[in-house]
Formats: sequence, structure tokens, C-alpha cells
Amino acid sequence: MPLAPLPPLAGDPDPGGADCVDCGRCCHHGPQTVSLHDADERRMGEATMKRLTIIEPRGPGFRFMKNDGDRCGALDLSEPGKYPCAVYDVRPEGCRIVEAGSPCCLEARALGHLGYSVEFTRRSPATPRS
Ligand code: SF4
Ligand code: SF4
Repeated sequence: MPLAPLPPLAGDPDPGGADCVDCGRCCHHGPQTVSLHDADERRMGEATMKRLTIIEPRGPGFRFMKNDGDRCGALDLSEPGKYPCAVYDVRPEGCRIVEAGSPCCLEARALGHLGYSVEFTRRSPATPRS
């Protein structure tokens, strides 16, 4: 059964990430969105990889985080309305790059899920306001 999408969130998040647990919009995405590389696999360890990742059945066989419907399978959904990553300390580089306030984050908040139109870039350095 498809999961209900989350409602969009208005405004910028706390740049330090204080809003992330209550938000989780960037962890709501289609399957085969978060790929893992060698360093990610080493950091995550075999047991977590077995539980939470899959290898693409065709092609070169890249490894991805497993999905639970329209969201990443690593989200801890035990508390309603909260979306903490259950593997935060060992999360893949592709997740680390989505910093609170980055273009990807802002698009995810505006859509209610991770979008497709922005590059996965880190947050721009603060620009002085005039
Ligand atoms: S969309 Fe932004 S605020 Fe929301 S969880 Fe992701 S990084 Fe944090
Ligand atoms: S691994 Fe964690 S941070 Fe990355 S998409 Fe999944 S829940 Fe979100």
C-alpha cells in the first residue's frame, strides 16, 4: 500500500539540524535513491548492510539503502511524527551531503519528500545580508 506523503514544511530549517528529527522529508524518496560506496559499506558494517541495503539485481550491481514504501527503510518510526535515522552515525555519504538548509533540503521541505531537480550539494556558505 503506498504511504501517505508528508505535508510540505514552510520556511528554512535550523541550520544546525535541530529540526531534522521532526522533519525527515529528505528521507522520503523512491527506491534506489541512496547508493553506498566502499567507504559507506565499511562504516556501516556487514550486519547493518544485510538488514538495510540491497544490491541492484541488474546492471553493475550497485548497493542501495532499502526502501519501506516511499521512505528509507532506516527511518525509526517508533514515535509518531518523528523521523530519526536509526543509523545516523554510520549513514552513507549521500545522506551526509544533504545538510539542513542545503538546496536539496529546502526542496524536500517544500515538496514533502526528496525532489529530483537539485544537485546533492552541501549548504552554500552564508552570504552576508545587505
Ligand atoms: S529535509 Fe532538511 S530539515 Fe528535513 S530532515 Fe532533511 S536535512 Fe533535515
Ligand atoms: S540512511 Fe538515514 S539519513 Fe539516509 S535516507 Fe535513510 S534514514 Fe535518511
